[in-house]
Amino acid sequence: MKIEENFDLSHLNTFGVSALARFFVILNTEEDLEDLIKTKEFKENEKFFIGGGSNILFTKNFPGIVVLNKLKGIEIIKEDEEFCWIKSASGEIWSDLVNFTVNRELWGVENLSLIPGTVGAGPMQNIGAYGTELKETLEEVYVVDISTGEKKVFKNKECKFGYRDSIFKNEVKNKYFITGILLKLSKVPKPNLSYRVLKDYMKKNNLIPNSPRVISDAVINIRKSKLPDPKVICNAGSFFKNVFVSEEKLEELKKNYPDISFFEEDGMIKIPSGWLVESCGWKGKRIGNVGVHEKQALVIVNFGNASGKEIKQLAEDIILSVSLKFDLKLIPEVNIY
Ligand code: FAD
Ligand code: NAP
Repeated sequence: MKIEENFDLSHLNTFGVSALARFFVILNTEEDLEDLIKTKEFKENEKFFIGGGSNILFTKNFPGIVVLNKLKGIEIIKEDEEFCWIKSASGEIWSDLVNFTVNRELWGVENLSLIPGTVGAGPMQNIGAYGTELKETLEEVYVVDISTGEKKVFKNKECKFGYRDSIFKNEVKNKYFITGILLKLSKVPKPNLSYRVLKDYMKKNNLIPNSPRVISDAVINIRKSKLPDPKVICNAGSFFKNVFVSEEKLEELKKNYPDISFFEEDGMIKIPSGWLVESCGWKGKRIGNVGVHEKQALVIVNFGNASGKEIKQLAEDIILSVSLKFDLKLIPEVNIY
């Protein structure tokens, strides 16, 4: 384990923005973490953990220590007639874990195919897509207390998962390093086609959901047709979370915007933020080095040499215009430093 100084992070965040880390280290094993916690550089400085860097925006240099997670290992822990329990280290690539499960005909995370990043970042925001969230299959999260080195297990309920939210973004923010997760997956077919776009795609292509692979491939194809690949054009996925409103607010909005898009979810009303941003005329708009993607209004892109500050400024301009037009507050999903 080697601690480097003044390390350039531009290749470790999918926005591709430049930022220097005062100290930088790569974790390959849990023993590395035990050793790291005892170092002066770690004890005396602010910490920042990076997995795939696909949900972060650096707007300035980081004056502390950045830790890149490369903890590896996926194993089947136990199984019975109905379920199979899979443990994964947090530095595994999420898509590799999905493939591991799909290849074994296990049901539960196939709708979450092709989400970039690492396994360890999944519980942070309870990753979700195409009608599924991580919390539906996640049993446990394994963590290490970064001030004491003590290991701890968070059961699903203790993680306080919500929409793109968890205890790790709130009460215990910056307290733990996530080292692994345990998934409980079904051997019994459980196709989830509740998401209309996915259901329509399956129907249009005469696909029968008789294997998680069929659904996984469908999700991958839909995603590839709509979402910009960060390797081709720098972005961090949806910049903003969707907005939840009361019924009264929805009725008020409907008066002025009868075509407003909304979904009823768990007794709440969700308005896709993409619709709000597009309605304010941002879709496909470019301002210098930054812009809003032409196919996806929620995705802010870096066309080349944008700084983190330029990206943040565009996000603030979007927030202001949505607030002025709809009196609704967009909240960033991306972790901004
Ligand atoms: P990073 O960006 O490296 O980190 C994210 C946050 O988690 C940071 O605050 C970091 O400090 C913290 N963190 C990371 N690892 C650890 C750890 N081991 N312990 C403690 N803290 C940690 N998200 C969705 O939910 N659904 C989607 O469908 C989706 N689609 C996307 C599509 C694209 C094209 C892109 C670019 C992003 C998308 N995202 C989506 C967002 C992103 O991929 C996910 O949030 C992903 O889980 C981030 O993983 P990461 O390893 O890149 O995290
Ligand atoms: P989309 O299919 O164009 O849909 C737009 C929005 O409408 C989404 O925000 C989605 O909410 C909502 N929606 C659509 N159908 C729905 C249904 N049947 N029930 C409930 N809500 C519905 O969205 P997209 O941008 O192409 O993304 C597809 C999926 O991938 C979405 O689930 C999205 O969350 C996920 N995704 C996430 C990120 C990220 O960075 N977080 C990036 C890309 C894609 P939800 O977002 O709540 O699903």
